[in-house]
Amino acid sequence: MSYQNTEIAKAAEVLKKRLNELENKSDIIKDNELKALYARIPMLPDGERAAFGKEINTLKAELLELAGQDDEPHKKLEPIDVTAPFDINTEPDKRPRLLASDLGSKHPITSEIEILSDIAMRMGMEVVKSRQIDDDWHMFTSLNFPEEHPARDDYDTFITTEGLIAPAHTSTMQNRIISARKDRLATGQAISVLVPDRVFRNEDLDARHEHTFHQHEGVYVGTGVHVGQLLATLKTFLQEYFGKSLEIKTQPFYFPFTEPSFEFAVSCPFCSKQGCRVCGEGWIEILGCGLIHPNVLKMAGVDPTIYTGFAWGGGVERLVMIKHNIDDVRYFMSGKLDFLRQFA
Ligand SMILES: [Zn+2]
Repeated sequence: MSYQNTEIAKAAEVLKKRLNELENKSDIIKDNELKALYARIPMLPDGERAAFGKEINTLKAELLELAGQDDEPHKKLEPIDVTAPFDINTEPDKRPRLLASDLGSKHPITSEIEILSDIAMRMGMEVVKSRQIDDDWHMFTSLNFPEEHPARDDYDTFITTEGLIAPAHTSTMQNRIISARKDRLATGQAISVLVPDRVFRNEDLDARHEHTFHQHEGVYVGTGVHVGQLLATLKTFLQEYFGKSLEIKTQPFYFPFTEPSFEFAVSCPFCSKQGCRVCGEGWIEILGCGLIHPNVLKMAGVDPTIYTGFAWGGGVERLVMIKHNIDDVRYFMSGKLDFLRQFA
């Protein structure tokens, strides 16, 4: 398009150049050059006004057309009728094509939960889902948190106005798991379950804290269960996971629902002579565990003078982060495709 008026021709050149740099191309008609041209109209002699105004309108229309073409690239495509029949003998590259799509892949947390579940099942455990919404009784009372006990403050999560809770740990499932299977104990069988699922915390978010994450929880109840069995089970479970022989280390800890309670560490599977990106002094703290508190068994209808059990709980994200050298927990829930595609 060429313009008779030199002022308009100059503005047209500037605006078309600028159009290419704009993110929202239709913003071009709000530009000052165009406004200045419109402002000139009243100042022109009577005889020139109409032709000048007409040329500005032509320029505006041209700009809108250019902007529109870029904003909506699909308008350039030939429409296709997806219901139209085609001859099955048509060459593949000449057949009608639908929109191309990228291939999807499993989320790294999903893959990791499958690995953990597979190990647990090979060790004779059942795998049970948790809940995304639960109640105060399963979150605290059934786990031996007394009312108003300060330990409840360590599990700050989200609560609905009706008092329902987004569970802050997978331990909310312990009472359901044990009470639903307690009849097995009399027949000499053990209760042996892994719960890998989503949990929630009311956290200030940073590279190590996220409001939504995942835990794996082991629950085992039987006759004569002791700490040695807990440690041997965890050692086997984690050696399978890391595919390596590991040393283990515990130190005393406090959880209301286990007694005694431990923090559990393994020798770092990533240490090498070149130094280590994962651990400080050769150990990685990996989960919390202990023998199930007698009150927890009692509340699930199991006699703690006859049966004992152990439980553990650890973070799934933490395992994936140390395995794949990921430095920020927030990536997992970000939906960032360039992060997720690394695991495809
Ligand atoms: Zn290390």
